[in-house]
Amino acid sequence: MLTGTLVLAGLALGLCAVLVLTDRLLPAGEDSVAEQIESLLPHIQCAQCGYPGCRPYAQAIAAGDADINRCPPGGDETIRRLADLLGRDIAALDTSLGSASMDRVARIDEQDCIGCNRCVPVCPVDAIVGVHQTMHAVIEAHCTGCELCLAPCPVDCIDLVPRNA
Ligand code: SF4
Ligand code: SF4
Ligand code: SF4
Repeated sequence: MLTGTLVLAGLALGLCAVLVLTDRLLPAGEDSVAEQIESLLPHIQCAQCGYPGCRPYAQAIAAGDADINRCPPGGDETIRRLADLLGRDIAALDTSLGSASMDRVARIDEQDCIGCNRCVPVCPVDAIVGVHQTMHAVIEAHCTGCELCLAPCPVDCIDLVPRNA
């Protein structure tokens, strides 16, 4: 009886050791790499990288499907950090993808706003308030300067201005 118990305990210890070693020796999975990449991105969710948000872009980089120079808000600093993390060469920012920046916020010209509400659903951070037929406004503390609300406005009454201006 005692011998059986000792054998079982030995087997359990051996299994634990194998699991610990496996965890240490196997390379990090793609998801784990994607998480590390995502942590270096600005989380503006502006989609200017060509992906619907920071997470899908991080997954594409981790899978080797996207270059590290596609995030305009992150700029050169984000490229440098990604290159460090992934051991890739630093590449120049692809400036054809836009110019979103946390340094700017959207502002709505209340004289021209017609209350069409088209800007509200496109804002990824719910920074625009207003209902149909009324003047809309931007909560500047929430706005990330992603530019996504500019194009849908039919009267062109949204501008990006320097933050705290
Ligand atoms: S461009 Fe940058 S901030 Fe915008 S969604 Fe892509 S990774 Fe995120
Ligand atoms: S208000 Fe416009 S610029 Fe600001 S976060 Fe929303 S969509 Fe982007
Ligand atoms: S899209 Fe332009 S006009 Fe329409 S509610 Fe927004 S700011 Fe006003």
